[in-house]
Amino acid sequence: MNAVIGSDVMRVLIVEDEPVLRDGLVDLLRGAGHEVEAVGDGASAAKLGVEKPFDMVLLDLMLPKLDGLEVCRRLKTARPALPIIMLTARGAEEDKVRGLRTGADDYVTKPFGVKELLARVEALARRAQASHVDPEVIEADGCAFDLGRCVARRDGHEVVLTAREAGILRWMYRHRARAVSRAEFLEQVWGVPGTLETRTVDMAIANLRQKIERDPAHPKIVVSVKGVGYAWGAC
Ligand code: CA
Repeated sequence: MNAVIGSDVMRVLIVEDEPVLRDGLVDLLRGAGHEVEAVGDGASAAKLGVEKPFDMVLLDLMLPKLDGLEVCRRLKTARPALPIIMLTARGAEEDKVRGLRTGADDYVTKPFGVKELLARVEALARRAQASHVDPEVIEADGCAFDLGRCVARRDGHEVVLTAREAGILRWMYRHRARAVSRAEFLEQVWGVPGTLETRTVDMAIANLRQKIERDPAHPKIVVSVKGVGYAWGAC
C-alpha cells in the first residue's frame, strides 16, 4: 500500500552513496507520491539541501566527501525545522546518540524494511506538520516571511526563498537588536569558519534583497551597517 501523507506531496532529498539502495529509495518515495531528488555524497547534499526548500531529508551516515553527521549539522543550522531521518548500517548506540545530537529527528538502521521506512517517514511528516501549528512566520512592513516553508509574501506575490536565505533572515531577526557580521553569518548560517571569503555573504544578501525588496517605496528589510555587516531593518 502506498503511503501518501494526507494529500500533501513532499519534496524529499535522498542522500545515499550506494547506487542500488539510492535508486530503491527514489522508487519507493516516488511510488508513495513524493517529489524526489537524490545525491551520492555529503558535499552535494549540504549544498543542495540549503539551496532548495525540501520538506524532508533521508540521510546516510557514512558518505564520501562529508559525513552524514556534518551534513546534518549544516542543514539544521540553515533550517532548524527541516525533518531529517538518518540511515545507517551501524546499529551502535553511540552512533544513534551522536546522530540525534546533531539534530537528526529519527534514525533507521540498515537493512530496513520498506514498510518500516515509509512508516517512519509518515510519522515524522505528521510530527513536523503538528509543530507547524506554531509556524516560523515573521510579519514586517507588509511583507510576511514563512521561514519554515521558505516563502516570502509581499503585495500578493509569493517568492520562494532558498533554505540559506531563510537562514539569513532567521538569524538576523533573532538578533535584530544588533548588526550581524559577515563572519558570524558564515559560521551560523553557512556552518563554515568565519575567516573564509566574505564576498559569499554579500552576494547571498544581494540576491535575497532582489527577491524581497523589489519596491523601493518599502522600507528595507536588510540594512547594511558600515564596517560591521548587516542588520534587520524592518520593524
Ligand atoms: Ca554509505
